[in-house]
Amino acid sequence: MNLLRQIPQVSKLLEIYRKKYPEGLAKRAIKEVLQRVREEIREGRREHLEDLTELIEKRIRELSTTSLRRVINATGVVINTNLGRSVMSKEVAEFIKEIALNYSNLEYDLEEGRRGSRLSHLEELLLEMTGAEGVHVVNNNAGAVYLVLNTLAFGKEVVVSRGELVEIGGSFRIPDIMRASGARLVEVGTTNRTRLSDYERAISPETALLMKVHRSNFYMEGFVEEVRVEELLSLELPLYYDLGSGSLLNLKELGIRTQEPSFGECIRKGIHIVSGSGDKLLGGPQAGIILGKGELILKMKKNPMSRALRVDKLTLAGLEMTLRLYREGEYEKIPTLRMLTQKTDELKKRARKLIRKLRDVKSLELFLIRDFSRCGGGAMPELLLETYCVGLRHKRLSTPELERLLRKGEPPVVARIREDMLLLDMRTLTEEDLRDLAKVFIKLED
Ligand SMILES: *Cc1c(COP(=O)(O)O)cnc(C)c1O
Repeated sequence: MNLLRQIPQVSKLLEIYRKKYPEGLAKRAIKEVLQRVREEIREGRREHLEDLTELIEKRIRELSTTSLRRVINATGVVINTNLGRSVMSKEVAEFIKEIALNYSNLEYDLEEGRRGSRLSHLEELLLEMTGAEGVHVVNNNAGAVYLVLNTLAFGKEVVVSRGELVEIGGSFRIPDIMRASGARLVEVGTTNRTRLSDYERAISPETALLMKVHRSNFYMEGFVEEVRVEELLSLELPLYYDLGSGSLLNLKELGIRTQEPSFGECIRKGIHIVSGSGDKLLGGPQAGIILGKGELILKMKKNPMSRALRVDKLTLAGLEMTLRLYREGEYEKIPTLRMLTQKTDELKKRARKLIRKLRDVKSLELFLIRDFSRCGGGAMPELLLETYCVGLRHKRLSTPELERLLRKGEPPVVARIREDMLLLDMRTLTEEDLRDLAKVFIKLED
């Protein structure tokens, strides 16, 4: 109790710190530290106040660093939504920086000297690469789904298979977005089997659209049947396919064993509207890309919601440069594609290299582990990618303790636990990450 009385007053401490730091920040740090210290004393966990200044300085430092920061993704999940989905290449990042630091022709036609369209910078590239008649780009794919439904089916019915009424995560559910858009959902078939006759029976004069949704984060095996796109098109109603993770390439060309259809394949089949994300398999910034028949796209552009969902200039810059890399065939410059297609030998080599770098960290036991990484981002959920990891065990800390310590490191490292070992998956580590990992572990030793 005596110790409690020795705690200095906030105002006394503030006198010292407000010379060096903004007053509000100093006050908050002091209050938080004093409260913690009082609790510790009451609970009998503290018998001195010697480290008070150190604690306050540390809290001020914590409060002064940005909240959003770089982390090292050692999970092996390439399109990790919690960790920012796609990483962008140097070319893309530098172009974003140039546009951010300067004025640009965002909505100005330099040829004609008058107002232009912000989408003009992407339109031709996307049309050329997919063969679509029209293109629209909005803030994200959830926005795209909303805009398509709201424009083409407000007050009308949309037919969807029960096997495709998915929840993507972060509260995005097909029935909910349908309701919010003003369209009425008509469910057909069962969870595992839907036939063409189910769609046929559901069609009425109220039907505006048939919708197909990529299952994204799960897959079905066994007694399963779904209707092929060609058959749905035979019903002679507009068909919208929410691809989720839209790809510009046939990924089989890059050696990825997957059935994921690309934007171009969908357009070639005659699907009226397709949409997908910019930051999933495409590997660009967050955006919703809508492609399809010219007159339908035009209706969406005229919908006032397009203004509410429009993309900002930094996204446009990132997306334009990403698309240009695709057009040049420079796929290795798109980190998402590079990570997904890394050769197993290469990953093994990197794991060995990291083991050599960490050898001096005496408290660690190191193992070379063969495992599987995942694509993530609701793309190719069935696909297991053979990978190599550095397995870690700490001589004093438990594996969950080690995981927590790394997560709070500088920079933070996010890794996965398998049984009693922490795995650092080589697939999602950049060269910079590899350099910094050694530093993180050396600091851990102190
Ligand atoms: C991811 C996903 C969405 C949402 O896309 P965002 O770009 O995250 O808004 C919508 N539909 C499907 C099928 C998806 O996989």
